[in-house]
Amino acid sequence: MNIAAPPTSTSGASPRIDPAAGARGLYIDGQWSWPAECAAIPVVDPSTEQVLAEVPDATVTEAMAAIDAAVAAAPGWRTTSPRRRSEILRRCFELMTARADDLARLISLENGKALRDARGEVAYAAEFFRWNAEEAVRIGGDFTLSPAGGNHIVVDYEPIGVCVLITPWNFPAAMATRKIAPALAAGCTAVLKPASETPLTAYALATLYEEAGVPPGVVNVITTTAPGPVTAAMLADPRVRKLSFTGSTPVGRTLLAEAAKSVISCSMELGGNAPLIVFDDADLDVALEGAMLAKMRNAGEACTAANRIYVQGGLYERFTQELVRRMAALKVGPGQDIGTECGPMITAKAVDKIERLVGDALARGAQLLCGGVRPEGEGFFYPPTVLADVPADAKMGCEEIFGPVAALSRFETEDEAVALANATEYGLAAYVFTRDLARGLRVSRRIETGMVGLNRGLVSDPAAPFGGTKQSGLGREGGTHGVLEFLEAKYIATTL
Ligand code: NAP
Repeated sequence: MNIAAPPTSTSGASPRIDPAAGARGLYIDGQWSWPAECAAIPVVDPSTEQVLAEVPDATVTEAMAAIDAAVAAAPGWRTTSPRRRSEILRRCFELMTARADDLARLISLENGKALRDARGEVAYAAEFFRWNAEEAVRIGGDFTLSPAGGNHIVVDYEPIGVCVLITPWNFPAAMATRKIAPALAAGCTAVLKPASETPLTAYALATLYEEAGVPPGVVNVITTTAPGPVTAAMLADPRVRKLSFTGSTPVGRTLLAEAAKSVISCSMELGGNAPLIVFDDADLDVALEGAMLAKMRNAGEACTAANRIYVQGGLYERFTQELVRRMAALKVGPGQDIGTECGPMITAKAVDKIERLVGDALARGAQLLCGGVRPEGEGFFYPPTVLADVPADAKMGCEEIFGPVAALSRFETEDEAVALANATEYGLAAYVFTRDLARGLRVSRRIETGMVGLNRGLVSDPAAPFGGTKQSGLGREGGTHGVLEFLEAKYIATTL
């Protein structure tokens, strides 16, 4: 099966990303195969609703073959020198960077996001290889004298073992490399299961790992429409020691329960409901720019997206007016079109959800200031929308909108803003805008999230610990913390 509309290369003489890699089959033990028993999963272009390609629908049998491959590759990879692992990861970074344009087109094609967002994602995704290439040779240990002085405490960090990695559709490259790069740096082998909506990027990246020198079996990629049974089977295998999942909180809860049966280490990057707080003393332009970025990166389809925007009374009218002007001016269209700033949503179901949440907020008294009407025609589009005076009981206050809808509410005091921000079961990201640094830091510390953007609309950084508190997850990805998730401390007590 061929890709219907393959992206064209714009990266000069460098070899192309293979957009049809997924059509070659599952990637297991360095081999591409499409077993006869595997049906096809259609991959749909959200801009046109046309089928772009088909990829194999793996069953438990293929998933366990992938685990076998990861197990077989594990001894060789964990004993590969850190320097060699580092060089391979660095090569992955270089190859991704050289083919950034092709990769961005592929991401945009299958996910729908605007090319400028897709380019940003590729740069971000590639950085995980560069960062973890540097981490691979800096994994230390400890050698200390016990407090009583009778023995020494030796702490060594060992690769945790075979990993199952599961990723969502909203960042098809970055969510994969944010797991694969630290896993490989730590000396682990892995099976990646990307989202069914966006598997082409994951498979295209696999061709690149091959070329970079990642040995067969170290990274395996499978796709399936039966993620529940397939993952349960993998997690039930005692040779699997790690689950790293990025996706929704309900699925995360299910997987935690599944992993508990085998007592498997879990890293969970789950849903968000980010508050964005603008105080009266904020720099209006900085706050607006930050709000546009926090709201509209990926057309709002981000776990860190500003889901609730709280503006203090003195700035509320001006902020709202200017935000409406900026949102209404955004160019909506197919992600690959030059100039598109807001692409389609991932599926019709995603648009249905946004429509439902907007309808609910309006029924409860919110004001519609722009957008709000689903367009006719092909593609899963929803226009940039601003709602003002969204009441606290609106459903979008506790559910992820995951779309281009800015929900504004007014507050008066700092305590009120903090209480509103914390009135959610989620705790991933938050944003605070104020010129008063002391207040900014104070409020940032009072907000119950893993990350805060202070006078910034973007928190993602491969060198920083990304992750949430409360129902937004367990563990951190990125920074020096990311690789620790794939290591186990081994303590040796010794008397010299
Ligand atoms: P999702 O429905 O939870 O799916 C995520 C992944 O889990 C997909 O690969 C999916 O496979 C798989 N999956 C679904 N059910 C499963 C099961 N029972 N067992 C094992 N795997 C299963 O989430 P999504 O809609 O793709 O992504 C959006 C969500 O991810 C949002 O809540 C967003 O906030 C969150 N997210 C969080 C972060 C973070 O860093 N905290 C980053 C990005 C996204 P299929 O595609 O085959 O269903």
